[in-house]
Amino acid sequence: MIIELREVTKVYNGQVQALRGVDLEVEPGELLAIVGPSGSGKSTMLHMIGTLDRPTSGTVRIAGHDVAKLTDRQLSALRARHLGFVFQQFHLSPGVTALDNVADGMLYSGAPLRERRRRARKALERVGLGHRLDHKPNQMSGGEQQRVAVARAVVGDPPLLLADEPTGNLDTASGAEVLKVLKDLNDAGTTIAIITHDNDIAEWCPRQVRMRDGRLT
Ligand code: ADP
Ligand code: ADP
Repeated sequence: MIIELREVTKVYNGQVQALRGVDLEVEPGELLAIVGPSGSGKSTMLHMIGTLDRPTSGTVRIAGHDVAKLTDRQLSALRARHLGFVFQQFHLSPGVTALDNVADGMLYSGAPLRERRRRARKALERVGLGHRLDHKPNQMSGGEQQRVAVARAVVGDPPLLLADEPTGNLDTASGAEVLKVLKDLNDAGTTIAIITHDNDIAEWCPRQVRMRDGRLT
């Protein structure tokens, strides 16, 4: 199991019950959508699965590691090794080439720049941007920028990719290109969870997990 949540609750400020007892098991290689309306707890789920925050109660295991048993420092290491993140906003560095934006995704590894650039070139080729290595974000379309962000997320080959509304800022055609890239990565073995409020995107995924009021329905 790459993701395992047992009776997970999350209460903010001692009063807002964002998650009310969530159980979820995800096997390696799955492509799943976590779908639900605004306020249903999707972002909180992303924070739990991404080990960006800790549950109020219950157990979160990512790649077999019980999050409660790790220090903050160990959690950072777990994220660096096992997780890639893609968000609605592309979060690329302006004024920096696509190649170096992606190479920065491996900064944690301590690999030398030359090796990080070699891996970055391969990652950009995987997302169909082998011809855009030296372009800066403002010289690329939104769809291309998001594919650079995907390349940066997977340049270190994490087994699990979390995508939070990855097509939220894109027109339908660019969004479809990004989804195609995610499908290709999944076909090559990466487990992917897409957080979305968009039913069309959810139904495009082989598995859907639906949320309402902090529960899976
Ligand atoms: P979604 O992503 O589906 O919109 P969220 O997980 O963001 O849902 O929110 C679930 C509930 O938790 C909402 O009632 C929201 O207002 C609340 N919430 C989310 N984050 C926080 C926070 N940091 N502090 C307090 N309440 C929060
Ligand atoms: P893997 O899950 O790839 O088998 P390991 O067994 O090597 O990872 O690591 C076990 C745990 O130790 C992981 O949860 C990881 O977060 C943590 N860890 C690994 N390397 C470091 C490090 N350099 N500093 C702190 N914690 C680390």
